[in-house]
Amino acid sequence: MASTPSTGTSSKEHFWDPVAGFGVTFRTMFRKVVTEQYPFEKLATAPRFHGRHQLNRWPDGLEKCIGCELCAWACPADAIYVEGADNTNDERFSPGERYGRVYQINYLRCILCGLCIEACPTRALTMTNEYELADNNRADLIYEKNDLLAPLLPGMEQPPHPMRLGDDGGAYYRGLGTSTRGTDEGEVPA
Ligand code: SF4
Ligand code: SF4
Repeated sequence: MASTPSTGTSSKEHFWDPVAGFGVTFRTMFRKVVTEQYPFEKLATAPRFHGRHQLNRWPDGLEKCIGCELCAWACPADAIYVEGADNTNDERFSPGERYGRVYQINYLRCILCGLCIEACPTRALTMTNEYELADNNRADLIYEKNDLLAPLLPGMEQPPHPMRLGDDGGAYYRGLGTSTRGTDEGEVPA
């Protein structure tokens, strides 16, 4: 029959464990407090932090989104819904043939991975540093196009309106600003 091993050494080792444990507590009491006073004090994020999306505009205010849905196809969380539509000469929202008539991002699904902005061919979609994406109901966390569109800066005009930066697509995209339509109204930013 096997004999019971002696517990003398083990008891001595465990005798100091509570002392060591309280030592950690005692040292921590004198360390610098790291509590952040959010939301009263908001710290800046890292410059490339992935926050809320933004739908960008051309310098005349037209939308960069062409409604191609590539962002929606790239999204692993199925968080983006896009419906494209045709621009007309009377009602133009973007300089190309198509624009994003419906654009939604569901922030209940989005994991802020950034794959959608990588997929966007026109740099219409980028991400801001805004991280306050919480609410008390599900509906308000589905952001519509109007929630995501970049604000109109000085010199921009609310679409729909004609292309103001050039007489044709080439001039417009190269920013040549040859159009008299734009200069007449002072709508051509540098
Ligand atoms: S950041 Fe990622 S999860 Fe969120 S909408 Fe874009 S692709 Fe989808
Ligand atoms: S945001 Fe970019 S990828 Fe998405 S529909 Fe618009 S143009 Fe296409």
